Amino acid sequence: MNLDSFIPEDFLILIIDDITDNLKVVGTMLDEAGYNTTFATSGYQGLNRLKNNRIDLILLDLMMPEMDGLQFCQYLKNDPEIQEIPIIFLTANQEQDNLVNAFESGAVDYITKPFIKNELLARVKTHLTLKQTTDNLKSALLQLQQLSQLDPLTQISNRRSFFEFAEVQFNQAIRDKTIFSLLILDLDHFKQVNDNYGHLIGDRTLITFTSTVKNYLREIDHFGRYGGEEFVILLPETNLKDALKIAQGICHLIADLSIPTEKGNLQITVSIGIAVFAPQDTRIEDIFDRADQSLYQAKALGRNTCYADQSQL
Ligand code: GH3
Ligand code: MG
Ligand code: MG
Repeated sequence: MNLDSFIPEDFLILIIDDITDNLKVVGTMLDEAGYNTTFATSGYQGLNRLKNNRIDLILLDLMMPEMDGLQFCQYLKNDPEIQEIPIIFLTANQEQDNLVNAFESGAVDYITKPFIKNELLARVKTHLTLKQTTDNLKSALLQLQQLSQLDPLTQISNRRSFFEFAEVQFNQAIRDKTIFSLLILDLDHFKQVNDNYGHLIGDRTLITFTSTVKNYLREIDHFGRYGGEEFVILLPETNLKDALKIAQGICHLIADLSIPTEKGNLQITVSIGIAVFAPQDTRIEDIFDRADQSLYQAKALGRNTCYADQSQL
């Protein structure tokens, strides 16, 4: 992303006017400045062009038969795919009264006929730059939002974003009287992995663990890193019995893993605590607490095992 560069060749401008002489005059000015241009002689044709091209800016005649410029604007503003495209109106002097309507319909600017080349190019460039800057900021913001939700090592949800997701699920379960289950997973004797193989292999093992579990889960399941070598999984629409089966599947899958290292193959195991949403729960933390207690039991039972609070079955 380069915020400074403005290259006219990067932009496609749609010019809509029922008078072809106007299209020629405006088109030539823009072509000479290096812009890509495409034309339409009616509002309907213009909407068609928008469907088939990625248009950056629209120069729109206000007065046209059938669909006039204002009606065209209404169509555009009702379509989320194209509503952000800036529109500059092309107006004759005697149409000034309509300008207020034009701005209310979503125009960003207007140019009066007869067109003065330098004025037209200056206005076009201003609005393309604005649009480019806004788009860049929006995509940077989106990227930041995505980054702030991910654990950098494993690229799954971090603790905070997992918790936010779990809270939404919790409220939904109360509202819709549905259920979900929660698994807390903790790798067994992971300190020894670091001690015996080094921290780098430890990191690689966490990545392999994550991708193995992720492949096993359904699309609707939500997987997060709770911290260190501890992970969490939310299983929507899953009772405790089914959650136990899924957890057992994960335990077997991980125990069967063989991770090649320079010091020979490395094997790991995981312990999993399971809890299910109960209608009397008042906070999401209630389920986390029960899953944590189950995990403690799984560790006490000798690790490489899953534990679900049987009273909940
Ligand atoms: P237990 O079976 O009781 O869970 O034993 P454990 O050794 O797994 O538990 P403990 O909490 O004593 O140690 C956790 C280890 O996980 C220690 C820590 O260095 C390691 N660890 C936590 N996060 C990371 C990480 O991001 N990378 C690596 N390589 N190691 C990590
Ligand atoms: Mg551990
Ligand atoms: Mg731990």
